[in-house]
Amino acid sequence: MTEKFEKMIEYQALDMELRKINREYNKLPEKKKLDVARNKFVEATNKLDANSAEAETLGAEVEKIYADYKNLMASFNEIEKKYNSAESDEEKAGYLSRFESLRSKIESCKGKIDDRIERIKRLTHDCKQQLALKKTVKEEYDKLKVKLEAFREKTSPDRKRIEDKLKELEPQIDGAILTTYKRFKSDGIAPVFVPVVGDDEKSYSCICGMQLSQTNKSELKNRSVSQCETCRRLVYLK
Ligand SMILES: [Zn+2]
Repeated sequence: MTEKFEKMIEYQALDMELRKINREYNKLPEKKKLDVARNKFVEATNKLDANSAEAETLGAEVEKIYADYKNLMASFNEIEKKYNSAESDEEKAGYLSRFESLRSKIESCKGKIDDRIERIKRLTHDCKQQLALKKTVKEEYDKLKVKLEAFREKTSPDRKRIEDKLKELEPQIDGAILTTYKRFKSDGIAPVFVPVVGDDEKSYSCICGMQLSQTNKSELKNRSVSQCETCRRLVYLK
């Protein structure tokens, strides 16, 4: 094993240690609860935004319908005046159908306004509930955060030590190898590099339990590293 590769393995060991600490953190019940609280908070915020946008649209509709209503009322009053000053029954009768048509339009406006206002009321009620929920969730979130910060605090020296060492090691590792390592890791493979299992070439296998193929074996001999065809880890010669 080359010195640069040894550094890679050292880097990986530390990285796995860091991963373990992070996993422990992520496995804490408080962390799960925190994530749930955060999602609830976001959900309530989204609902509030959607509700207020809808209420705004309804408000604009009310304004428009109310303008129509006022115009209809003005027409109604106008005709009423004419009706009252009409000189004959015949003339009066002529206004009746106009009255009827206006009255039904006015009623329809009133109905629409009532409907919008009822919907705005419901939205307002829901907004109040979402606000209360946000408050509760936020309080819960803050409490959990304090508990989790205590854990963070406790593991902080360890994390710092590892992170510093990782930074120190990085320039000592072959760039291509480190890039490969990071790519594999982001694909969810950990550890990326594993020592070959078995003492003689015949029985060489991967840590996953799979016997290495002939291709793997010759690659291992030539390049000291070969990718397991089963688990995709990179097997290296000790
Ligand atoms: Zn394998």
